[in-house]
Amino acid sequence: MPAIEGGNPIRSEKLPNGRQTVDEKDVAAVVEVLRSPWLTTGPKVAELEAALARATGAADAVALANGTAALHAAAFALDVGPGDEVIVPPITFAATANSVVFQSATPVFADVDPGTLLIDPATVERKITSRTKAIMAVDFAGQPCDYDALRKVAAQNGLALVADACHALGASLDGRTAGSLADLTVFSLHPVKPITAGEGGIVTTDNADFASRIRRFRNHGIDADHRQRAQRGSWHYEMVDLGYNYRITDIQCALALSQLDKLDGFIERRRQIARQYDEAFAENALLTPLAVNPGVGHGYHLYVVELQLERLRVDRERVFQALQAEGINVGVHYIPVHLHPYYREHFRTAVGDCPVAEAAYERILSLPIFPAMSDEDVADVIEAVEKVTEAYRR
Ligand SMILES: *Cc1c(COP(=O)(O)O)cnc(C)c1O
Repeated sequence: MPAIEGGNPIRSEKLPNGRQTVDEKDVAAVVEVLRSPWLTTGPKVAELEAALARATGAADAVALANGTAALHAAAFALDVGPGDEVIVPPITFAATANSVVFQSATPVFADVDPGTLLIDPATVERKITSRTKAIMAVDFAGQPCDYDALRKVAAQNGLALVADACHALGASLDGRTAGSLADLTVFSLHPVKPITAGEGGIVTTDNADFASRIRRFRNHGIDADHRQRAQRGSWHYEMVDLGYNYRITDIQCALALSQLDKLDGFIERRRQIARQYDEAFAENALLTPLAVNPGVGHGYHLYVVELQLERLRVDRERVFQALQAEGINVGVHYIPVHLHPYYREHFRTAVGDCPVAEAAYERILSLPIFPAMSDEDVADVIEAVEKVTEAYRR
């Protein structure tokens, strides 16, 4: 009997949905910076930027305070402003669309593909108007979008292409690494993401003008940072744009550099876990994992399944609560962004705008996946999912 109905839970201690993996090498790297002269805007920032450019195959990388700041900076670099529209998917974290609003522009929601929940290039095309400035695609769950199709749509319509790859550091498409698939790519270094800095964000680009605008933007729009002025022996600087304090510390960058050494291993472990889930659920008619496109090297930031509600006696909410009761912390990624009260009120979005995303939202669950999960943890998740879905089979 399911624990929620009074049976024994699979686990007594709750398994998290996602969690960072930090080891003693990471700790030592942070401590070393604390003993150095530079706590912020120092050599570790440039070192992390160079390492991420190498890792992603982009010409340049800029490190910022967090992924949201990095998205904002990308919108700024593209001159997104009042009257402009930027096309975004609804199945994402709110920050994707919010970054457009920060620049006083309008996010326009384009529906997703039902198999992958990635933005659908055909829908994007239908949402383009004379005001459209850019497409912001989201590599949901760690799967790169169809960038060949998106690039074609962008080029035909004179639009910029941004990848919100906050889930997808270490992922690839047809052998090309995330970070080199769009004009600007944004990564997050939040603890649940592929590698962490505590908080942190990265923009990668091949465009030197974008990179220098973003470096100014993270430092109040000032043309030279503290360290550059110290090196020049000059006090003089000019503020040329309205920027923010979106700087990242050397403490954070040292942690991210140490984590980056382990990225390949982290991704490999996530893929192993995903394979175990795939095999376990292949014969289960009560749920379906999201589809994976050919040529995708998946990052598996999330492992998302869709419940086959027609075959169940209960809704997603009950399955969610039942799995929590079994000691498995499942998640729901995401509430479609256009359904949040803020967007309904300020942008007049409504139910019906993105029917595929809205229907998927009723069925999705994100199962625990993170590199430190043991095989026993994975087995517990599989057992709990089978137990709960079987108990509620119609
Ligand atoms: C995490 C995330 C962000 C925001 O990143 P932060 O570093 O938390 O600011 C943006 N978009 C997506 C898709 C994310 O998952």
